[in-house]
Amino acid sequence: MNSKRLGEVGEFKIIEKIREKFLKGSGVEVGIGDDTAVLKVSNSKLLVTVDMLVEGVHFLPSISPADLGWKSLAVSLSDISAMGGKPLFSLLSLSLPSHLPEKWLDDFLAGWRELAELFGVSLVGGDLTKGERIIVDSIVLGEAEKPVLRSGARVGDRIYLTGSIGDSSAGLHCLERGLDYPNLIRKHLRPMPRVKEGIRIGESGKVHSMIDISDGLVGDLAHICEESGVGAVIYSDKLPLSADLLTFCREQALSAKEFALFGGEDYELLLTAEADLAEFFEFPLYEIGEIREGGGIFLHDNGEEKPIERRGFDHFR
Ligand code: ADP
Ligand code: MG
Repeated sequence: MNSKRLGEVGEFKIIEKIREKFLKGSGVEVGIGDDTAVLKVSNSKLLVTVDMLVEGVHFLPSISPADLGWKSLAVSLSDISAMGGKPLFSLLSLSLPSHLPEKWLDDFLAGWRELAELFGVSLVGGDLTKGERIIVDSIVLGEAEKPVLRSGARVGDRIYLTGSIGDSSAGLHCLERGLDYPNLIRKHLRPMPRVKEGIRIGESGKVHSMIDISDGLVGDLAHICEESGVGAVIYSDKLPLSADLLTFCREQALSAKEFALFGGEDYELLLTAEADLAEFFEFPLYEIGEIREGGGIFLHDNGEEKPIERRGFDHFR
C-alpha cells in the first residue's frame, strides 16, 4: 500500500494526501489547495510564530516520525501559549529526502495531527521541497486580546512555573547514552504544550510577563529580566522536580537542580505576577522566586545567595 519512496509518490500526490488527512476546522474559509489560505479572524490581536527543526541540529536522526510530527507542532503551540494566546491555525513547510518511505510521511502527519486535534488547531497550508535532510518548519497563528509580553515584569513580582522542569533534558541525556528512563525520554520526545493554561492566563489579565521554557530556566528568565529591565532571585529548594527526575539523578549520581536550572525544552510556562496568583487558577502554579531591582539572576541555595551564569543553549556557540 504505502511502500513507495516519496520520490515515486511526487509532490502533488503528497499535498493531496496531506489535504485528505486534515479536515478544515472552524474559521477556515479556504485551507490547503489555493494560493493562500483564507481565514476568519476576530477583533483580537493576531499572534504569529515560526520554528524550524533541522535534522542533526534539533533532533537526532533516530527520532520516530510520529514523535517529530508531534514535537514540531508542540514547540510553536507553546510559543502561542507563552503569549497567553489561543492557537487557531497552523502551516507546515517540509524539506524531505526523496528516498524516505511514504510510511515515514504518514507517521509524521499522524503525530502532528494527534496534537493538533487535542487543541482544535487546523492545518491550512504549507510548502514542500526535496532536500538532503529533513527540515520541518512549523508556523502557528493564534489570537489574544491582551498578549502577555516578556517585558512586563515588575519589581516585587513572584516568579511561577506551570510544572516541573529538567525532565526533557534528562530524557535527552538518556537517549544519547542509551539509558532506559522511558518517562523522561517521553517528556523529551512528546512535550505537552500548556495550551489551556496559556489561554486561562491570558484571559485572567493577572500575569505581568511570561515566556515558555525552551532554552532552560536561567536562560529564559534572563530574557524576561533583560526585556523588563529587572533582576531575579530563584530559590533552589522551591524548584518543582519530578519524582522521575529525582530517581534518575540519584541512580546516575547527577544533579537534578542542574537539569532544572539549565536544561531546555520542557515547554512549561514561566511567568511573573503578584503574590496571590495561584488562587485564581484551577491548575497548579509553583512559586520559585522573585523579581528584584537591578540586573542579574541570583540563586538562593543552602542559605547562600550567588549570581548564576547563564548557560542556556545557543546555536551559534
Ligand atoms: P504555490 O505554488 O501556490 O506555493 P504549492 O504547490 O506550493 O502552491 O502548494 C499548493 C497548496 O498546498 C497550497 O495551498 C499550500 O499551502 C499547500 N501545501 C503545500 N505543502 C504543504 C504542506 N507541507 N502541508 C500543508 N499544506 C501544504
Ligand atoms: Mg509553494
